[in-house]
Amino acid sequence: MEMEQIIDKYFRAGRLPHIWCPGCGNGIVTGAIVKAIDKLALDKDGVAVVSGIGCSSRASGYLDFNTVHSAHGRALPVATGIKLSEPRLKVIVVTGDGDATAIGGNHFIHAARRNIDLTVVLYNNNIYGMTGGQYSPLTPTDSKATTAPFGTVDRSFDVTELAKGAGATFVARATTYHTPTLVDVITQGIQHEGFSIIEAITACPISFGRQNKMGAAPNMMKWQKDNGVMLAAYEKMTDEQKAGKFPIGVLYKTTAPEYTAEYDKVIARAQKGGK
Ligand code: SF4
Ligand code: MG
Repeated sequence: MEMEQIIDKYFRAGRLPHIWCPGCGNGIVTGAIVKAIDKLALDKDGVAVVSGIGCSSRASGYLDFNTVHSAHGRALPVATGIKLSEPRLKVIVVTGDGDATAIGGNHFIHAARRNIDLTVVLYNNNIYGMTGGQYSPLTPTDSKATTAPFGTVDRSFDVTELAKGAGATFVARATTYHTPTLVDVITQGIQHEGFSIIEAITACPISFGRQNKMGAAPNMMKWQKDNGVMLAAYEKMTDEQKAGKFPIGVLYKTTAPEYTAEYDKVIARAQKGGK
């Protein structure tokens, strides 16, 4: 389907143009989500998109599915409630690095631990974009931010490793430069039964790029192109070659009991008087 048709079908009439800055990568990630939904030919009423607060979380307001623009850091508890009450829905969580890993960090860990069937698309622009460029847990150490004008000393973590450690059963990463890979891993994440997390590395040329003198949006995307390496190739690299690079694609996949299905079994047992 052509992009114009995709916009007509999946975006709410009258809600565009969006508020994102020129050059922001958020539109590319949101476009990748709808392309994945389109590829899977999902019924629009069978999809729920839940977001927290932040630049990326504005996406839920533009999309024509069942949507909730919730509170800061709280997209995952809202999504958990929706999935438990309507397991037939494909629930997609749209969140940012600050929303998901700072304010919502605890929710992230426990949703992963439960292996509830949600697909989290984490727009990682390495910064709190909307509120003016404060550093987040995913801001690389030494980066400049309005809260660290001389460079942050905080050690950032790898959210894909955190997700794996917490119990996520599908973990992937792609960038706004590698859009076919991004669409592909979101598609696989939606199909996967269990907690799926896709880290979508996206450029914020305004709040992050300017402070760190990374150039305009095309320069930031070139950085993604030069440093994102498909997992199979990345694994063959020496430690020296890996410096500054990061793997993309499906990074981890396994199977485990899914929370909603397990909960249904408990309900069935309770209805039989606990037997
Ligand atoms: Fe995008 Fe950054 Fe602007 Fe937010 S502040 S809309 S993330 S470019
Ligand atoms: Mg952010």
